[in-house]
Amino acid sequence: MAKCVYTTGRCPVCFDFGAVAVLRRRDTDALVFFCPTCACAWPKPPGDPPDESQSLSELAPDGARIADAGEVAGLVGAKPLPSGEWLDILEAMLAD
Ligand SMILES: [Zn+2]
Repeated sequence: MAKCVYTTGRCPVCFDFGAVAVLRRRDTDALVFFCPTCACAWPKPPGDPPDESQSLSELAPDGARIADAGEVAGLVGAKPLPSGEWLDILEAMLAD
C-alpha cells in the first residue's frame, strides 16, 4: 500500500497553511498530532480554538514517525491526505 500521511484536519493555529498530521511516538504507542507548517504539536487532536500546543520534542522525546492506517484506525475523523501530500516533508523532519 502506498504510504500516506493521515490528518485530523486543518491546523487551528495556521489554518489553511497546515494540516494536523498524525504521528506516533517511537518509544510508546501514543499518537501525537503535529502541524509541519507551524511546528505545533498536541497529545490529542487540537480543538478550535486550539489547546495549548507543545513542541514535538516535548511530546515525543525519542522522536516520532508517520502513523500508518492501522494505527489511526480507531481515530475518529482521521483521513488520508491525497497523493503523498506532506509525506516527503514530514519524513525529512522526522529523520534522525
Ligand atoms: Zn499549524
